[in-house]
Amino acid sequence: GARIQLENLTKRYPGSPSPAVDDVSLEIKPGETVILVGPSGCGKSTTLRMINRLIEPTSGRIRIDEEDVTDIDPVGLRRKIGYAIQASGLFPHMTVAENIALVPKMVGWSKSRVKDRVEEMLDLVGLDPREFHGRYPRQLSGGQQQRVGVARALAADPPVLLMDEPFGAVDPITRDHLQDELIRLQRELHKTIVFVTHDFDEAIKLGDRIAVLRERSHIAQFDTPEAILTN
Ligand code: ADP
Ligand code: ADP
Repeated sequence: GARIQLENLTKRYPGSPSPAVDDVSLEIKPGETVILVGPSGCGKSTTLRMINRLIEPTSGRIRIDEEDVTDIDPVGLRRKIGYAIQASGLFPHMTVAENIALVPKMVGWSKSRVKDRVEEMLDLVGLDPREFHGRYPRQLSGGQQQRVGVARALAADPPVLLMDEPFGAVDPITRDHLQDELIRLQRELHKTIVFVTHDFDEAIKLGDRIAVLRERSHIAQFDTPEAILTN
């Protein structure tokens, strides 16, 4: 895992009267799972997308292991950060194997290493490689797609994993399974995870620490689940 520091982070979208994220500072320790929980529209996705440099902050700074993310080149960023989103974000015209292989290939892994890694990742998320390797996303259930989404995010073994409502689009029973698997994975892999959800119960279940957000991502509380439940 890596340390992530958000320093006075602000995002103002063009034409918006108020910032989507206003002066947020937060430090996430290596290997920690931090949940950003708050109502729809409070700026959670915007915060995550700034960490991933899909959008630029209006002001403020993001550092990963002390390095400013604006100093990291795009391939370096893919090496450092895995990204999993709601409804899996899989590319529909690519097979499961091609989707998982995407980032490892992009960062220059050899063909044979990528091939082995795809099998390993499918095993890791509980999908039989022989059965799922050549399928297209539309040939998978919602839960299976989310598993592949997580496998893809982890494929290049990044120290940081950003997850934006990754289990938001699956039924409650499948979600429960996927949450349990994430807890198991986290015990093995010790990634630094920033996980966005509007579901307080999910936050309590998964977080080492939870940032409870109000509008414009103002942090109302930042503490362990135990401390938050007793307050
Ligand atoms: P959350 O993830 O907590 O639901 P978002 O980060 O998606 O919140 O959105 C925060 C605020 O910024 C909302 O008011 C939303 O309408 C606005 N917003 C999000 N994306 C854009 C955009 N591309 N352009 C303008 N406003 C946006
Ligand atoms: P948009 O909604 O604007 O298309 P997304 O956030 O969905 O943008 O990202 C586009 C695609 O790129 C998604 O499929 C996402 O999974 C992938 N992606 C973005 N950043 C990363 C990353 N750091 N590592 C792996 N895949 C990424």
